[in-house]
Amino acid sequence: MWTIPPSFPLYNSILSSSPPTPHSRFSHIAIILLSIKKREREAMPEAPKESQKATEHEYDVAEKNKKTLQFIEDVTTNADQVQKRVLAEILSRNAHVEYLKRNGLNGHTDRETFKKIMPVVTYEDIQPDITRVANGDKSPILCSQPISEFLTSSGTSGGERKLMPTIEEELGRRSLLYSLLMPVINQFVPGLDKGKGMYFLFIKSEAKTPGGLVARPVLTSYYKSSHFKNRPYDPYTNYTSPNETILCLDSYQSMYSQMLCGLCQNKEVLRVGAVFASGFIRAIRFLEKHWTLLCKDIRTGTLNTQITDPSVREAVMKLLQPDPELADFIEAECSRESWQGIITRLWPNTKYVDVIVTGTMSQYIPTLDYYSNGLPLVCTMYASSECYFGVNLNPLCKPSEVSYTLVPTMAYFEFLPVHRNNGGINSISMPKSLNEKEQQELVDLVDVKVGQEYELVVTTYAGLYRYRVGDVLRVAGFKNNAPQFNFICRKNVVLSIDSDKTDEVELQNAVKNAVTHLMPFDAHLTEYTSYADTTTIPGHYILYWELNIHGSTPIPPSVYEDCCLTVEESLNTVYRQNRVCESIGPLEIKIVEAGTFDKLMDYAISLGASINQYKTPRCVKFAPIVELLNSRVISSNFSPKCPKWTPGHKQWINMTGRT
Ligand code: AMP
Repeated sequence: MWTIPPSFPLYNSILSSSPPTPHSRFSHIAIILLSIKKREREAMPEAPKESQKATEHEYDVAEKNKKTLQFIEDVTTNADQVQKRVLAEILSRNAHVEYLKRNGLNGHTDRETFKKIMPVVTYEDIQPDITRVANGDKSPILCSQPISEFLTSSGTSGGERKLMPTIEEELGRRSLLYSLLMPVINQFVPGLDKGKGMYFLFIKSEAKTPGGLVARPVLTSYYKSSHFKNRPYDPYTNYTSPNETILCLDSYQSMYSQMLCGLCQNKEVLRVGAVFASGFIRAIRFLEKHWTLLCKDIRTGTLNTQITDPSVREAVMKLLQPDPELADFIEAECSRESWQGIITRLWPNTKYVDVIVTGTMSQYIPTLDYYSNGLPLVCTMYASSECYFGVNLNPLCKPSEVSYTLVPTMAYFEFLPVHRNNGGINSISMPKSLNEKEQQELVDLVDVKVGQEYELVVTTYAGLYRYRVGDVLRVAGFKNNAPQFNFICRKNVVLSIDSDKTDEVELQNAVKNAVTHLMPFDAHLTEYTSYADTTTIPGHYILYWELNIHGSTPIPPSVYEDCCLTVEESLNTVYRQNRVCESIGPLEIKIVEAGTFDKLMDYAISLGASINQYKTPRCVKFAPIVELLNSRVISSNFSPKCPKWTPGHKQWINMTGRT
């Protein structure tokens, strides 16, 4: 077995083979860093000059940062050995689980046998096993360690959220990835330990599977864990939002109190953010709607009576002081006609906006630029419910150049080369299961080629083996021996506003259900396409419909509204949840003039599309095409109400009822 070189103390600690427990080696990198720091200090006769002047706290931060960066150097330099070791560790621990035995792995832990024997799978392939676990089968089906909960992915299968198994120790691995972020940023933006981060973080409702396991989004699981709630003081996780405000399930109370706390501490804020760009914009929109109430609270030092959660009230009241001067200032800024640069005006010491703007979130870049007066938009990490993947080592780069370095200790990574047809990925229908030849095409982390696109395949500590995540990545370069990837897209997803991911098939079905309302009018849908409109806040889906109407009775607007609602009711649970919690606005159907889609085809052909192969795109993004469609709209119709949504899979009993 590969042994860890003694010169990698941190790496050594992280990968040492002590038995995994909730407080295992992965439980918090800070502990490891601290013990190394202590060891090294003992060996150090004299501290460097600067540190003598620095306070103990400053010394700690600098030293921790250095160790973390060294960890990144070590694992990226030894990427292949680390990967080999990670796979061997996963396979040896799980040698006796049913899934590996069923596939005939017979206790082998080497890459060659694993790749020869184990199939590359999608969620649908492992769904029967997942369902067994969800229904209460506690035997080791996928993983030798108990499945502690399910993480509900924003990806869907059959309209329901996917359930990703996880184990207790994965929380430690997630914490580890988080702990890499600030030392990296600190190299480019020093001094962030001298102030606070204003982050809008939220939990969502959880459900219980019939077998009694909790099913919830990965961030809800993380924020509710002791890794987050009981984190030791660290200047880099010093947020303006008290934990109680983040852990409040009521989205209005949570947002209001987080915004209030952020405003009260406005001078201390050095960075602002949310997980995804859409969430941050929602917070600004909330401020636009509620600033008068917020100013009243700041002026008087009393809290809005709509904040009824006692723990939230108590936490906020610890920070809230009557401050008429601050209230005047906020009022003056918010009542100005233009909200351009509102971030830098209200939080004048902000150095950057920390939000993901890669992938579909790139549609929000212009809005963020407007509100932040062009502050750097920093995408720090790439992660999913299946596994946290990697970090951006060059955080101040342009959003279009962001690349993520996959951290080799997180999971065992493989890459399936993507071959584009006509430049489109979304239009390819990938085979459900790969044949033997295709399985052999998968390459290891260190073997990917610059410029080539790949689909990410992971083998995790929590029981996923050669699992296709569904993301397409392009190799941008290497950090030592570890590749850095641009996020290209999520396969098959056509529409996304927030965490929703709607694919072409779901859209097609939803449209098919909706057009039944047109039948009494002898009207038929001849063509349609869609567009994720993010110029409204929140953004919303637009469908462009071209109709062939034979009947003589005019179609009343209420019928089109019924069509809108039926589309929404037919879309997946993530879409409907986002609608209910107002992260997505009402769906719009725009009826376009006859002949519009012919014009669309003419335009595509004028740009070089082949007339034989032309297919109407089921989603459009290119501005001139959207303009063309909009120039031929006859009527606009919106969904009159929210579609139905309840937490958990349809058949489960809900634990809680609110988002
Ligand atoms: P979920 O499993 O619901 O947490 O969603 C994870 C998915 O979100 C990933 O597989 C990606 O498709 C997307 N995602 C996560 N991080 C990023 C990122 N930094 N840039 C673009 N897309 C991301």
